[in-house]
Amino acid sequence: MRQGLAERAAALRSRGIAPRLAVVVVGEDPSSAAYVRSIEKVAQKIGIDVVVDALPESAGDAAIRAHLARRGDDATVHGLILQQPLPAGRSIRAIADALPVHKDVDGTNPLNQGRLAFGAGADFVPATPAAVMLLLERSAKWPLRGREALVVGRSAVVGLPVSLLLIAQGVTVTVAHRATADLPGHVGRAEILVVAAGMPGLIPGAWIRPGATVVDVGTTVRDGALVGDVDYAGALETAGEITPVPGGVGPVTNMALLRNVVVAAERAHASANSS
Ligand code: ADP
Repeated sequence: MRQGLAERAAALRSRGIAPRLAVVVVGEDPSSAAYVRSIEKVAQKIGIDVVVDALPESAGDAAIRAHLARRGDDATVHGLILQQPLPAGRSIRAIADALPVHKDVDGTNPLNQGRLAFGAGADFVPATPAAVMLLLERSAKWPLRGREALVVGRSAVVGLPVSLLLIAQGVTVTVAHRATADLPGHVGRAEILVVAAGMPGLIPGAWIRPGATVVDVGTTVRDGALVGDVDYAGALETAGEITPVPGGVGPVTNMALLRNVVVAAERAHASANSS
């Protein structure tokens, strides 16, 4: 994927377009800073420029919205993301609709989220759920039609959109969350298991159905190291396929995001040419 994107970025550059992503960061969060650095590193290899707009922790909703609108009008920026988490007590729900839809490369604007729910071609599928599907496309179980999947976690960023994308593939989906009574029972039935709960060790290997395909979306920083939600060593005994943490969903998420930036730049170029 990286090579394919580098070729498309080079083609844009040869026509005078430098694909550019703007990352809006409000306040300071160590895990978010690490994520931004990892995007910058891969983006550079591909030929995508990244600008980080650091807003102070004190920036209010109105100031953030105004900033997003300015970047919406800025023709040198093709993709725009608002980095989460926001400072404590602030909600992205109050701001997400201010992300310009045609630059919303992490699919955060409620319009893009709604289109995803409708199965009606969201402009941009959020990067982490897109990464889960990119990995499953390369699974031994693809195509997934008729399979039974369990998604652990129902967040708007991961669990819910992953469920929608799986349903669109003809999968029978169960979604587990904090109120689920019998998590081990559900895990034991799943042919495909996607875990996005942010709780290290939540899924012991012994729960997993033999031969299952496991995608671990968990990324918790513990003692300076990134750990997933699945007991990887234990799962290797039972699962048929599993993605590690780190080195699984994370790098593919970066690729999915940067692919959306390239698509946004290509579209901007095409519409500039046709008008
Ligand atoms: P993310 O952004 O990775 O999706 P969130 O913290 O927003 O993470 O959401 C975590 C999700 O995981 C929630 O939907 C929550 O209900 C689910 N979850 C957390 N703990 C458990 C648990 N012990 N069993 C099942 N689901 C859980």
